[in-house]
Amino acid sequence: MPTYMWLLEEVSELGKALVEGDREAVEAEFADVAAWLSSLANVAQVDLEKAALSKYNGRCPRCGAEVCRCPFR
Ligand SMILES: [Zn+2]
Repeated sequence: MPTYMWLLEEVSELGKALVEGDREAVEAEFADVAAWLSSLANVAQVDLEKAALSKYNGRCPRCGAEVCRCPFR
């Protein structure tokens, strides 16, 4: 399985946990998504922190606030 598929699988599991409202599972899935995102960036030789800061400049891409104020759905 390509590395990016692991990330997609974890994102799917995170979405499911959010919909189900299982707090313990949500935290575990966020950890999995962060781990696989970091791994994929490393494999692709991308400095994830540098890329995110460069693109978003420390602000939410949606609401533009430094601390996101987007409503949770
Ligand atoms: Zn926001």
